[in-house]
Amino acid sequence: MKNKQYIIFYLISKGTPLVFMGGFGKWLQSIFTIFILAGTLFSCEGKKKNPTEQSNVVPVDVSAKGKTIMAVFAHPDDEIYIGPLMAKYAREGAKVQLVTVTDGRYGTGQTDLKPGDELTALRHEEVNCAADHMGIEKPIWMGYHDQLKLKDGFFGHVPYIQEIMVKLDSLVVDIEPDVIITWGPDGGSNHMDHRLVSASITQVYLSKSRVKPLSLYYVATPSSHIEDEDQRLLAGIADDYLTTQIAYSEEDRENTILAFQCYKTQFSDEAMKRMAGRLRSGDQKIYLRPVLKAKTKKDNLFIVDGE
Ligand SMILES: [Zn+2]
Repeated sequence: MKNKQYIIFYLISKGTPLVFMGGFGKWLQSIFTIFILAGTLFSCEGKKKNPTEQSNVVPVDVSAKGKTIMAVFAHPDDEIYIGPLMAKYAREGAKVQLVTVTDGRYGTGQTDLKPGDELTALRHEEVNCAADHMGIEKPIWMGYHDQLKLKDGFFGHVPYIQEIMVKLDSLVVDIEPDVIITWGPDGGSNHMDHRLVSASITQVYLSKSRVKPLSLYYVATPSSHIEDEDQRLLAGIADDYLTTQIAYSEEDRENTILAFQCYKTQFSDEAMKRMAGRLRSGDQKIYLRPVLKAKTKKDNLFIVDGE
């Protein structure tokens, strides 16, 4: 592996995709083990508990026609995490609008390119290609700097993320979604961009009551799908929280696999094949946690909601 400022590659070890990220001159400066798609796309291969069986999901037939989903993620390719969900609802008549916040300029992945504009242009093409396969709207490319100017410290990063929040709010006003989907605090992989984008759109969502009802969901990997205890802590969400579970079709799954294959700058053929195999052997569900308001007001911390 070459010395690159920002490297993501997958190793499949014990059935778990590993992501190694390097930066700031030393490519192996930090290591994150992540479960991108594990449990959601890669799922449990039938050997772990199925949260559906535990939580008594009640099917309710509400048409997707005329509804709008806004998916907010940090990098081109992050959206694959909910690819089958987006393909499903687009197929059922919803407008599905992906918003990609950063330009992904450090994601040199499988390329020999240096971080920069040439790579950014390729990644922009890749996300458009993926959107075509999933049948969703052309993604909104916000084009903010990968890593969100974190290296510039407080005075570089904070005004930058504030600008992004203002822009995200204007996108919510323009798009008028019924539902927003992003990560929860785990950020899927604990990647700082993922977590900061999640926190930013969450703050935009929480900052005001809107005339049109708007729901926020965090996509997640059920803890029961993660065998390793440490990884469960870092990336899992207890199954009890994942009360929204979206089943999708084989067609949605295959369209997501095609979408994933657009990301040639990021993943080797071998990694793509492994991911497709895992997706095909999974339980064909995306798990989400709704961000809910309490139904009643209370004047005591120790009253449990619903009592
Ligand atoms: Zn990412």
